[in-house]
This record gives sequence, C-alpha cells and structure tokens, in this order.
Amino acid sequence: MNKQTYDYDVVIVGAGIIGLTLACSLINAGLRIAILDKNNLNLNSIPNKTYELRVSSITLGSQRVFENFQVWQKLAKTSLSSFQCIEVWERASALHLLFDAAEIGQPHLGTIIKNRDLQLELISQVRTASDLDWFSPDSLISVEYNDIACVLTLASQQTITTQLVVGADGAQSSVRELAGILSRKYDYFQQAIVATVQTEKKHDQIARQIFLPRGPLAFLPLTDPYHCSIVWSTTYEEVEKLKTLTDELFCLALATAYEQHLGKIASTSKRLSFPLKAQQSEQYIKSGIALIGDAANTIHPLAGQGANLGIADAVCLANVILEAKRKQRSLGALHTLRRFERSRRFHRRLMGGGIDLIKQTFATKNPFLKNTRQFSLGLLEKTPWLKNYFMQYAMGNPTIESLKSFF
Ligand SMILES: Cc1cc2nc3c(=O)[nH]c(=O)nc-3n(C[C@H](O)[C@H](O)[C@H](O)COP(=O)(O)OP(=O)(O)OC[C@H]3O[C@@H](n4cnc5c(N)ncnc54)[C@H](O)[C@@H]3O)c2cc1C
Repeated sequence: MNKQTYDYDVVIVGAGIIGLTLACSLINAGLRIAILDKNNLNLNSIPNKTYELRVSSITLGSQRVFENFQVWQKLAKTSLSSFQCIEVWERASALHLLFDAAEIGQPHLGTIIKNRDLQLELISQVRTASDLDWFSPDSLISVEYNDIACVLTLASQQTITTQLVVGADGAQSSVRELAGILSRKYDYFQQAIVATVQTEKKHDQIARQIFLPRGPLAFLPLTDPYHCSIVWSTTYEEVEKLKTLTDELFCLALATAYEQHLGKIASTSKRLSFPLKAQQSEQYIKSGIALIGDAANTIHPLAGQGANLGIADAVCLANVILEAKRKQRSLGALHTLRRFERSRRFHRRLMGGGIDLIKQTFATKNPFLKNTRQFSLGLLEKTPWLKNYFMQYAMGNPTIESLKSFF
C-alpha cells in the first residue's frame, strides 16, 4: 500500500460507544474528523449474533444525549428495557433500599440496552457523515506532537496529522500508553460473570442488586418479562468454580445466591467473565491529546455508571472543541483542553469515590464500619430529599452542578 498523509482536525481512536458519541457530537460542524478502530467496523461485516451478552444500564441523562442525535428514536423498541425501580439489599441483614422513579416524578430510572445495538445505531449515524473518514481495521503505532499538530503513524503505514487525537480506546488505551500518560491501577481481585438468564417470576421492570459476602450480584430486567442480564462480581476462585458448573448447577447456584427473589432460574445463556480493575489516568489531557471513557478512568460496574460517565466525557469534550472552533483557537492546545479535564475529573472523582466507598463498606468485616454503613444507608432511605438528590445524580441529571459550587 502507498504511504499517504491525511490531515484532520480531530482523530478519534476507538469506535466503542464513547468514541462514537463524540463522533456524533462533532459531525456536520465543519470539522474534518477521522475515526480509527482495530476491529473491522464495516456495518455489513459485523456479525449479526443473535445472542449478545453485554448490556448497559443507560441513565436518563445519557438517553437525552442519544435523543439529540436522533439515535434513540431509531433503536428498535425491542432493544430498550426501561426500569422504574432499583432494589438493593444485603444478604442476612435488614438493609433494604428501594429507589422509585415515581418519587422524583420521572417515567423511569434508566434503560437496559444491548451494547451492540447501541454501537450499531451510532455507527450507522456517523457512516452517513461526509466530513468523517474511517480507518478500520487499523491501529496506532506512534503518536508525536510537534507543537502544531499530532502526527500519527498507523499499522497500515499511513500517516495522519491532526490538531487533536482523542483516546477512546478503552481500559488498555494505546493512545494513553503512546502519549506516556501514567495511570494508577487498582485490582479488585474479582471477576464479573455476565449471562442472560430466564427466571421463574416476572422481573416487573425492577433492576435488583444483592450484596453477597464476596461481592454484588445484579439482575437487570430485559424486554422479555422473564429474562434478565446478570452481573455477578466475585472472587477469581468462585468464578472459576461457577464457570465449570453445568448450566443446571449454575442456575441452582444463582437462584440460591439470589435468595430465589425471582424464583427458580429456568435457563442460562453461555457465561462470559471480565476481570474487575479500576484505573485512573494521572492526566486526561496533554498537548494535542485527550482521553475519554475507560481510557481516562475505569470503575467497578456495581453502579452501572462506566459508560454513562464516558458519554458525559464525550459531550463535555465536544462542547470544548466546538467552542474552540468558534473562537478560532487551537483544538489541541492545553489552555483549550483544561476546562474539559477540570470538569470531568471532578465528576469522575465524585462518582468513582462513591462507588469505591460502597464497594469497600459492603466488603468490610469491621463491625464498626458495618454499623456505620447500616446507619448511613438507613438514613438515606428515611430522608426523602437526600434520597431524591442521590437518585437524580445517579440518573445523570445536572443537579450536581449546584453541588460543584461548594468546592
Ligand atoms: C461486567 C460489566 C458491566 C458493565 N455494566 C455497565 C452498565 O450497566 N452501565 C454503564 O454505564 N457501564 C457499564 N459498564 C462499563 C462500560 O461497559 C464501559 O465503561 C464502557 O463500555 C467503556 O466504553 P469505551 O468506549 O470507553 O471502551 P470500549 O467499550 O472498551 O471500546 C474501546 C474501543 O476502542 C477500540 N480499540 C481498543 N484498542 C484499540 C487500539 N489500540 N487501536 C484502535 N482501536 C482500539 C476497541 O475495538 C473498541 O471499539 C460495565 C462494565 C463491565 C465490565
């Protein structure tokens, strides 16, 4: 292949949900954009698997973003499973929390969607844009910043120059690594088992999570009233045991762990497992570079917030880019990107810190901390304004802006 050089305003590395959200926010704004992914993302070449196991709980805040792109409206009704309530409890304790959308006058608290359905709809949205080029399958070999532009070399031998390269390439980000941005890693020493299961009782559009001694187990309601997606976070040893069980024995173990809240488990799909690690990049920006989504920060999935935080990163960065374009400023300059980093670091620290606190306090065996947790969560349950505030924040509603003024 001939060596070629291309010139863009923004190059997005990673066409997952987060990179595509950024692309959707930037198309038709007079920018030259390229998107690069190591996988072949030609719509026709993506295998049409009937069984897609990865799902995400999408908040109302993120839903509004996709509505603005006219993407949400195009998703098949059969892809979207809204839930009105979230129920959280702990095994062998009186602790029981119920978050109900009706308490804050909302139609629902969130929607479960298959990652693949959302990704495909976002791809077909940006595919039609004339100001966006695709490089897939391809990957980055090097990134150099020369004071004016970033020069990217691709595995296909092509060279790209751009004002700004955005790393949306997930937890193992090559952009982060090639740019020399360090990250702090924290291993939970756990894995999550993900599967789709059929339950004996209807889920009634309630998302449920039980805290077990080794980690949380979530049942996320799918469109069929008897089907849920489960995320079972537990130790490596227990995951290994659960993976070797026959389907029948796994269903039994699951129903027992879940205290039969939805009756017996009638069947299970194949089971996938994901190692659970947190990662926090020391910087989200460098001259000519910005990180969004899991590339910037990866969190524990217990609150279903990772993708939602990434979607908010993408929207925030798009606003910063579009404003810089309007003011004819360099898109990759540090003074342009700082507003993005300040805003997103605040939100991510708040959410990540909260999730880690929940994770640690449910894992603790210390009786004092256990009692403090029971007391705090009991207080949350009995204090409507606090509970409402908590729900609004978890739904991605902008009430948090008011909290920011305290810092
Ligand atoms: C078990 C589990 C359950 C979860 N549930 C939820 C939930 O309910 N709600 C929620 O909000 N979040 C949830 N999350 C978190 C969520 O899945 C992630 O935060 C989100 O998928 C991150 O998206 P991303 O686009 O940043 O990264 P990814 O989804 O990892 O996408 C990265 C993209 O970059 C591409 N890429 C990677 N490396 C390269 C490279 N070197 N060159 C070019 N391209 C590259 C990949 O092909 C991919 O397309 C969950 C996570 C887990 C593990």
